[in-house]
Formats: sequence, structure tokens, C-alpha cells
Amino acid sequence: MTETMDDISITAPWQERHLLGLEHLSAEEIATILDLADQFQTLTEGGSKKLTVLNGTVVANLFFENSTRTKTSFNIAARRLGADTVDFSASGSSLSKGETFVDTALTIEAMGVDLVVCRHRTPGAPHLLARHLKAGVINAGDGTHEHPTQALLDMLTIRQKLGRIEGLTVALVGDIRHSRVARSNIHGLLKLGARVIVCGPATLVPRTITQLGVEVAYNLDEILPQVDCVNLLRVQFERQRGAFFPSIAEYAHLFGMNGDRIRKAKDGLLVLAPGPINRGVELTPEVADGPHSVILNQVSNGLLIRMACLYLLAKKAGK
Ligand code: ASP
Repeated sequence: MTETMDDISITAPWQERHLLGLEHLSAEEIATILDLADQFQTLTEGGSKKLTVLNGTVVANLFFENSTRTKTSFNIAARRLGADTVDFSASGSSLSKGETFVDTALTIEAMGVDLVVCRHRTPGAPHLLARHLKAGVINAGDGTHEHPTQALLDMLTIRQKLGRIEGLTVALVGDIRHSRVARSNIHGLLKLGARVIVCGPATLVPRTITQLGVEVAYNLDEILPQVDCVNLLRVQFERQRGAFFPSIAEYAHLFGMNGDRIRKAKDGLLVLAPGPINRGVELTPEVADGPHSVILNQVSNGLLIRMACLYLLAKKAGK
């Protein structure tokens, strides 16, 4: 069977030309992406079957910061939809010859690119591209700001495993201050009706975070019995200036997920981690590979979420 547009239904009309973050998306728009991702799971028979709905669309991956999961996932997602992809990495490019970020993107766009996926260490970099390019822009992580597709895949995983988001209590644990994953999750989860607790060393939890509508905790053991899902954020050493806690061993002791903590938590606790995971820091191997962990489900769902986002933006761009 060749799938057609008729096989794909969108829950609500899609108006956005770009996907820059979850802060400005409505609950309905977020649900539209999650529902479409579920449909792609069926249409691609779990993500493996190739579709043709984006034949003739070109997706450029512009990554100015390292990535394993996100870049590969966008690449495979685009190809699963029948699109062509082009990969750009900052190292080895003409950036070293003085070309600006925007000129580099305009050059690549001029080769017939319809959608640009951008990762950059500077917050707001994809927003800048969105102002200059005709192509639709997807934020694949901008510094400490947002990482919308990561939060969407986290929410899809929770929804698939627990059947809902509304009414759940989700703890985001670790380096809240430097985490774009935390910020996107906070916006998305609150919009879908979850209770969100952020937990970490006081130095890594900005005081102003409560303005977003989350609760703050500094003791993981105290909150664990109330929590349905725990999302273990990596300590972003590459974004930190200075020491935020005395030692990795102390961090792991206070905020790492281990077998003892799992035994004190709710029976059905879901353990998420955006990756890359550092075994022995945010979580022990026993937890990472144990029955509560949905880390590899998150990776598989990332493909479906990125298919949904690429599809919606490509259709908005008239493809
Ligand atoms: N991969 C995620 C990101 O790019 C999480 C991390 O790096 O810790 O933000």
C-alpha cells in the first residue's frame, strides 16, 4: 500500500511555520504533534517502514554543536517520510573562513532546502534563522534555552506508557539551570496538565524558575514517593563556569537514581533520561538497564516526533 495524505489526519489545524520552542505552543498544538507521532507509529509499522509523503522535500541539518541522537534521529525521520537530507557540521565548513552563521544558512537554503533543523550553543540562534530564511526552521537545541523535540518525545513516551499526562507528577532532576530539556519539558508538561517538580542542588536550580509554575525541591528522597515519572538531566559541564557542587560522587549520592531509591519510589515509576547518560552519575547501570527505564523507548519515539514535526512544517511550507 502506498500511503497518501488521506491516511494522515491532523487533530487540529496547524498554523506554525517554524518550531522554535514549546513556550509559545498551545496545549492543542502539542497534542496535535503527539497524536500525529502515534499515527506515524502505525503507518510506519513501528518506525521501520518508509513512506513517500515528503518525496521532493529537502531537509538540511545544521548542527553547530555536538549531537548523537538528535541529528541521527532527524536524518532518519526525514528519510522515513521520503524527504532528502543534507548534513552540515560547523567543523570543516567555511565558518572558519569568516562566513557568518546567517550567510552560511542562506547559502545552504539557496540550494533548494525546504526545512532547516538547527542546533547551536547560543540561545535564540534558530529564531534568528527563522527571521532570515524562507525555509521552515526547527530548533534542535539552542544553548540553555529550549529543545522542543526532546520534550515532545519525553511526553509521548509518558503518554504511551501511562496513558495520559494530565494529573501526573513529573520530577525533573539535576542541572535545571543549564538544561534546555528542562525548560521545554516544563512548558510542555504544564500545558498538558501535569504537576512539575524541579529538583537539584540549590546552585543548579535558579530561584526564578518558580515563575514558570513549577515546584522546587532540594531533596530527591523526600519527593520520590509522590512522583510518577523522573527525568534525569545530565550535568551540563560544558555550559558551566565554575564549580556548582563539591564532587561528582556527592552529586550522585544526593541526586543520582539508584536501586535503593527505586525501591522507595512508586511501583510504576517511569525513569526517563534525555541522554547522553553518564552511568554512575545521574543513574546507576542497574536503573538505566532496569524495568523502570524507558530511555530506549524515548529514542525510538524521537523518530516519530521528528517525523510529525517535519511533516507538519513541510505541509505548512506547501510541500
Ligand atoms: N541531548 C540533550 C541536549 O542536547 C541533553 C544533554 O545533552 O544533556 O540538550
